[in-house]
Amino acid sequence: MFVEVILPLALPKTFTYAVPPDLQTEVGVGKRVLVQFGKKRIYSGLIHRITTKAPEYPAKWVLDVLDDLPIVTPEQFLFWDWMAAYYMCTLGEVFIAAVPAGFKLESETKVTRGQSEDTPWDTLSDDEFLIMEALETTTTLKMAEVMAILNLKNPAKVLNKLIEKGLVAMEETLKPELQPRTLKSVRLHPNWPAEHLEQAFEQLKRAPKQSSALLALMALTSQQTTWVPYKLLAEKPHVDAAAIKQLMEKGFIEIAERDPFLATSASVVGLKELSSSQKTALTQVRTALEEQGGSLLFGVTGSGKTEVYAHLIQEVLQRGQRVLYLLPEIALTAQLIQRLKSQFGEQVEVYHSRVREKDRLRLWQNLAVDAPQTPQVIVGARSALLLPLTRLGLIIVDEEHESSFKQYEPAPRYHARDAAMWLARKLGAHILLGSATPSLESWYLAQTGKLGLVEMKERFGQASLPRIQIVNIKGGATEVSGSGLFSQVLLERIAENIAEKKRVILFQNRRGFSPHVQCGDCGTVVMCHNCDISLTYHKVKNKLQCHYCGFSVPVQLKCAACGSTHLKMAGYGTERIVEELEIIFPQAKVARMDQDSVRKKNAVEKLLEDFDAGNIDILVGTQMVTKGLDFDKVGLVGIILADALLYYPDFRAYERAYQLMAQVAGRAGRRNAEGEVLIQTYMPEHFTIKLVQANDYEAMAAAQLQDREKFQYPPFYRMIRVTLFHKDRQILLAGATILGDRLRAELKEGVLGPEFPPTERLKGMYVIELHVKLKRLAAVQPIKQRIKQHADYIFLTPPYHAVRVVYDVDPA
Ligand code: ADP
Ligand code: ZN
Ligand code: ZN
Repeated sequence: MFVEVILPLALPKTFTYAVPPDLQTEVGVGKRVLVQFGKKRIYSGLIHRITTKAPEYPAKWVLDVLDDLPIVTPEQFLFWDWMAAYYMCTLGEVFIAAVPAGFKLESETKVTRGQSEDTPWDTLSDDEFLIMEALETTTTLKMAEVMAILNLKNPAKVLNKLIEKGLVAMEETLKPELQPRTLKSVRLHPNWPAEHLEQAFEQLKRAPKQSSALLALMALTSQQTTWVPYKLLAEKPHVDAAAIKQLMEKGFIEIAERDPFLATSASVVGLKELSSSQKTALTQVRTALEEQGGSLLFGVTGSGKTEVYAHLIQEVLQRGQRVLYLLPEIALTAQLIQRLKSQFGEQVEVYHSRVREKDRLRLWQNLAVDAPQTPQVIVGARSALLLPLTRLGLIIVDEEHESSFKQYEPAPRYHARDAAMWLARKLGAHILLGSATPSLESWYLAQTGKLGLVEMKERFGQASLPRIQIVNIKGGATEVSGSGLFSQVLLERIAENIAEKKRVILFQNRRGFSPHVQCGDCGTVVMCHNCDISLTYHKVKNKLQCHYCGFSVPVQLKCAACGSTHLKMAGYGTERIVEELEIIFPQAKVARMDQDSVRKKNAVEKLLEDFDAGNIDILVGTQMVTKGLDFDKVGLVGIILADALLYYPDFRAYERAYQLMAQVAGRAGRRNAEGEVLIQTYMPEHFTIKLVQANDYEAMAAAQLQDREKFQYPPFYRMIRVTLFHKDRQILLAGATILGDRLRAELKEGVLGPEFPPTERLKGMYVIELHVKLKRLAAVQPIKQRIKQHADYIFLTPPYHAVRVVYDVDPA
């Protein structure tokens, strides 16, 4: 018996191992095994197939089977196979990206002594004894050493026993508990909301013991429906078990076996009543999903899409199925989770890279075996799509136009929206894409009937869409402040809004203080040593920093080229805008929201809370401020300079610029107040800006789709970008030219490049790109294979063997 194993390495294929007789009943597809790879290294691989066919090489033995039940479902394997083929990467890379770190045991994993102080030597088995003895003389053992001590025999089982006894611990848990840790827990029954509690105590007037138990419980919980360990309550003075039991029997409290440390919800208030236009949208979405399997919900900002999702979610749950809710940013999940928990309670759980490892493992395992305590609504960023999604009924991709759904680095370079569409079809689940500014890809699918299309054109309730004004800052058309950064209108409106206690958002797509430092005499710009990128001046850190590789130098006083001390700060980043605002409006509270200001954990949440609570008058930010946030009382949104968005050298520039501006604009005037948007630009006649002002997404989309078709871009053509990296520019160019010529000879058309991108050096490597454009309906899979074969062949031998090749399919 043999197993084909996926290793957590970027290797192109699976590896076959022989299964020793004593493990033959234990192996299974989707279970992890310990195997040796290379000279010494031990890895936890994943069984992809079981076979009787011996490989051509002498197969090594499987050392151990780590799982009792599979951790990866057959559907996941299909998805992984598709992902590897479609995005031109390896199964190992998908494996690494998909599973939580705790599943990826490597021989570097270390074993240490556990919490238990005394070793009960006389109760240990021989193998356990050997390990504990070794830990007497050394504090840590590497997995490889453990295997050597035990003669490579079943280390996982021995270690697990020792872990259970508390005698050893692992840096990465070898085999996390399959069942979540549950505890007898207790909480106030959700039937007793705060406003009715008085009645509860009234009813308990003649039962003082029960009263004091209930009081004690309330003292333990900050929120109504938070679960607390039963033990904590029972240990309180004046609380006895009988009283707790009676409280339960009378329906005042609930007792259950559960994990009380799970995040718990605010009290569940249920769904909001839908407005009539929301009801119409819901009906249309339902029909579209049933008839077409998928739909685009195109609803202006504030139209109440999230409530429509909630009602759909409820319907899916009632059918006994699960929902996956994807968001582009981790930072947005907290807000949404709160909202969904108030509607669906504990059935909601979040999954993304910042969630604690142990919670990620638990959710994964529960899902894989479809355990009864598994949550029904999973909210997550991109990577949640890679969970074992059993019994899935619906995938919602909110803010589907966001480019952060696409993974750049490392492989798999997948687009979560596109991959979600594939997966939904495969699993027979529905898919709903939502946006106020859909991607042209999704818009095109809706226009051609591949997806349903449902529109919500009005904002919810009394709210109206903001008034948008274009401010021409060209050559004195409008008076500007000393720095030339703020037009007079913008300054006036900011002052008015602050005076009326309304909040202001200012958008500028550059962080730092000043994106270029330039010599006033010779014109030299200070550049990164590793990249072909100018260094941004960060005043707070007093450093010049590269936003690509992180390289930084102290602030320079002299030009490195001519020695002049006449250095100028060119351009405006968020830091500089904040500084100027603080001078112009000394009484206002100004805050900044960009990558630099939200490094700390929960910084985004804190900023948003402060903003919501009125502790911030003016929020200055990069595109972070554009993302689906539901702000109250924002009277004014200012876009400092729209032009930078339009000049971007990319075929998606106008689409992106429209989306960004429309989304920032959408932050203004929510709820009952009308808002205003000012767009500063040197190009007031630019049609993209005009269309933002007219709120005419459809005209933008129509014009852009025409161009895309004419110039052979997505969604009419598929693109594959091959990026090559090497230290030596000449070798790189020569190798890339060979690849380009071979591809052109084979494909005849659609091969562009090689060409150096505008930034031709990054992190000390030269970069060159080739693009392959393929008709949308062409058979692309074989072509991808050919591209790979050519590249593999060319870059196998000197002088080209050190060229790094990166494939990006459907680059964002
Ligand atoms: P969108 O996601 O389309 O931008 P939201 O779902 O965030 O819009 O809704 C905008 C605002 O309107 C939110 O503050 C939300 O709470 C409120 N809202 C939407 N639908 C309802 C409803 N049916 N009842 C009460 N409030 C609603
Ligand atoms: Zn100079
Ligand atoms: Zn750099």
